[in-house]
Amino acid sequence: MDVELVPSSVPASDSQFLVSFLINGTVAVDAGPLGLLADLDRQRRVRHVFLTHEHIDHLATLPIFLENVFEPGPDCVELLAAPDVLAFVHRDIFNGRIWPDFFALSAGEDRFIRGTPLEPGRTIERAGLAITPLPVAHAVATLGFLVDDGRTAVAFPSDTGPTAAFWRHLATTPRLAAVFLEVSFPNSLASLAETTGHHCPATFAAEIRKLDRPVRWIVVHRKPRYAAEIAAELAALGIPGVELVEPGRVYSL
Ligand SMILES: [Zn+2]
Ligand SMILES: [Zn+2]
Repeated sequence: MDVELVPSSVPASDSQFLVSFLINGTVAVDAGPLGLLADLDRQRRVRHVFLTHEHIDHLATLPIFLENVFEPGPDCVELLAAPDVLAFVHRDIFNGRIWPDFFALSAGEDRFIRGTPLEPGRTIERAGLAITPLPVAHAVATLGFLVDDGRTAVAFPSDTGPTAAFWRHLATTPRLAAVFLEVSFPNSLASLAETTGHHCPATFAAEIRKLDRPVRWIVVHRKPRYAAEIAAELAALGIPGVELVEPGRVYSL
């Protein structure tokens, strides 16, 4: 399985302002910078967009992406998310003010978007991938995803603080190769991390002990102004298997 964190700075750098993972070039988990991919053919290949939650860093360019890839006809991008998130996206973004109501415009022959509600724990198959949404512990209701191509499984917990059921589910996943886990704040802001449903290095270290097996822990979602501080604190922990994500790198997992 090929996984890439889409870069979100200009020019591309290690600073990560927005979140979108591309899986095998056809499925996206979140759409933060998705509509900024310079190669429009790469945008057009993405047919299924899974949203973890409604925060703007996870869907900022969704309207731009849908505009970029629209072609007249019945085929369109599928947006998969919890029912509440689909409703927020419709009401607060595609509302005829912020952006045209692509849902209403898709009622005819030419379709921009098709919404599919997700149910926690219920696996859905798309583009050769079995994708299971699993609740995590963030400031708003959020779904992490376990993605399994039959040979390898990769976990995308999205924005989360300490949680339990997600790791219990992963413990039953034999092919798990990597987890893209967030660390948003340095240890000096541990209380802010706790309040907002994020990790700092200390809670990250405790969290990965909940999974009793060796996997690649790929750290994402470092707030840019604390990125170096978080990296130093993680390095000081000296935990094997922990690495910092490189935006724009294709991870063959
Ligand atoms: Zn969030
Ligand atoms: Zn976020």
